[in-house]
Formats: sequence, structure tokens, C-alpha cells
Amino acid sequence: MTTEEANSLERDHVELVICQHCLRKFELKVNKADLVAWVKGTKIQFAMPYLTDDERELLISQTCGECWDELFKEDEAGTTDYGCLLAIVIVGLLIMFGPWLLFWSIGVLFDYHIEFTFRTWLAAIVLMSLVGGAGSSKS
Ligand SMILES: [Zn+2]
Repeated sequence: MTTEEANSLERDHVELVICQHCLRKFELKVNKADLVAWVKGTKIQFAMPYLTDDERELLISQTCGECWDELFKEDEAGTTDYGCLLAIVIVGLLIMFGPWLLFWSIGVLFDYHIEFTFRTWLAAIVLMSLVGGAGSSKS
């Protein structure tokens, strides 16, 4: 008897598992003794090394591979939203403090003090958007 034949003979039990998320039924071919060993505390990768990661996850958490991917995707989307929020905050800070930096650099370069008020801040925003617009239309 070859090892391959022995393995196929060993998987004599069909364990029916229902995914708790999509309620699909999965039939896992396992060895009954291996299943008992796992239930009694043997780590699943040692008890049933012939199962794929998805099949093991089905037995452990009643979650199929597709539903795991779906759950993981939601996690990724959450991270992306957080990144977008951070970018908006950074752009907002640049708009807030951009004019202040402009006044500061003018003060240092030309020794000319500009009072930082709402009017001068607004004027700097207009100036910067004009300069920025001219720069981007050239390119
Ligand atoms: Zn599922």
C-alpha cells in the first residue's frame, strides 16, 4: 500500500459545515479519529494537515474562504477612509497655515512685516491660488 492510498483511505468521514455568514454548506472529507483528536485539543494543523487553510477556518469559525475575504476587504476599506481623512486634514492645515508661511518668508526675505489678520490671510489665499493657477496652466 502506497502512502497516497493510505491517505485517501484515512479520510473516511464527511463533516458537514455550514458557513455562518453565507449559510452555504461545505462537505469536508476528514479522518474521524483526526477530528476527534482536534476536538480534544490537538492543534488543527497537526490533527488534519491535509486540509487547506480555508477548510480549517471553516471548522474553527464556521466562516468560508470567500466570507473571510469579504471581512478582510471591509478592514482594508476602513484603512483607506482613514487615509483620505488624514489627507483632507493635511490639505486643510496647509490652507490655514500656508499664508502664515508666506508672510513669514516675505518678512525674512524682504524685511517687510505683514500683519496676520483675516483680510491678509484671505488676500494671501487669492494670491497663492492665482500663482498656483498660472503655474499649472503653463505646464
Ligand atoms: Zn461563507
